Amino acid sequence: MKLKLHYQILIAMIFGAGIGLPLNYLAYRGDIDVSVPQTVAMYGKGVGDVFLRLLSMIVAPLIVTSLITGVTCTGNAKGLGRLGGRTMFYYLSTSMIAIVTGMLVFNVISPGEGANLAILEQGAETLSAAPHMVEQTLGQTMWNQLFTLIPGNPFNSLSDPSNRSILGVIFFSIMFGVFINASGDETREFLTKFFNSSYEVMMKMTMFIIRFAPIGVLGFMLYASAGKGIDVFRALGWYVLTVAIALSIHAFITLPLILVFIAKRSPWAYFQAMSPALLTAFSTASSNGSLPLTLTCVEERAGISNRISSFVLPLGATINMDGTALYEAVAVLFIAQVTGHELAFGQQVVVAITALLASIGAAGIPHAGTVMMVVVLSAVGLPISAVGLILAVDRVLDMYRTSINVWSDSTACAVMDRFEGRPAETTSHK
Ligand code: ASP
Repeated sequence: MKLKLHYQILIAMIFGAGIGLPLNYLAYRGDIDVSVPQTVAMYGKGVGDVFLRLLSMIVAPLIVTSLITGVTCTGNAKGLGRLGGRTMFYYLSTSMIAIVTGMLVFNVISPGEGANLAILEQGAETLSAAPHMVEQTLGQTMWNQLFTLIPGNPFNSLSDPSNRSILGVIFFSIMFGVFINASGDETREFLTKFFNSSYEVMMKMTMFIIRFAPIGVLGFMLYASAGKGIDVFRALGWYVLTVAIALSIHAFITLPLILVFIAKRSPWAYFQAMSPALLTAFSTASSNGSLPLTLTCVEERAGISNRISSFVLPLGATINMDGTALYEAVAVLFIAQVTGHELAFGQQVVVAITALLASIGAAGIPHAGTVMMVVVLSAVGLPISAVGLILAVDRVLDMYRTSINVWSDSTACAVMDRFEGRPAETTSHK
């Protein structure tokens, strides 16, 4: 019998901590030489870094194929212009609300306070490597971000090893998708098929690399626990709590309010109708994987027309990820805090915007949000190696954020159904 990946990750985490923590403690008491935990930490980091590099490797192609597929799947939907516009508006605004919720909760709880894990950034690119970011005004920072959004050369951006110019890749891919849609039938069909297939391959590749997560987690756990001791776990506990609280606010307050006031539906009834899809999302941690069920629930259990669901849901599974967006923002603020970099307001705005873009670019498969973390971290010059730390607790957060991604897609269907689907006189009955 093969153990499920998340159990493997859990075991790797316990195993790493079980070795690292005692070593750290013994060195602290002076029973063994400090070089012992340091050496263990160094080798652990080596192993973890290989895994991270594999993740970095797939970021750019994954974004390109996921975004182009997302945009082109709307292509044959001629006449869906207004529905498309409204859906996009809903997707962008709910993701942004989720991000702001996450940031507010983060600032209240301050999960990384007092945990100085600056060790995590050793050898990594840090804020000090980009001092201009610190001193800039908000206006300058925004202008810079907007400017770098347009790639000087998209091929260079694609091959940038540090993924610093990945925002340009996102911008270019969206435009490319839009213009595929605007092309003649033959070209559009060919390219849509091509990118669809490439996306499928990239998702398979990502799942393959993710299978090595336990080894990466073991390495990083050794590195963090042997090097830093119990602090790591205290901070991680607060971090998980912060993300969970913020996600709950979005799921149980924000989205239900939208259902009541905008979609004019009972959130409880709608939640019940969607529950098979939400539970599937929770257990598989994949919005793409849950899509068939989400479609069925929306159409058969909530009575929403196929015209709406077949457009809103596939698009949502690719680009609308409220849970992921929120999580990206909180995780990056957390990494900044534990590595001793308080982010100025301007940089927090950059985090919010890049978290939104990262969530749009993330594929609907397990851990994709963590892969995309590289994008947000590099936008504010934070150490990418810190991803290894939060990877240890990623699965449980991934399950929760994925169900919120699907919950938001479903809510979008209810909203669109109110405005586009049902005859006006029936909308008030639900
Ligand atoms: N697992 C998420 C999804 O499929 C993406 C993520 O990792 O945040 O929706």
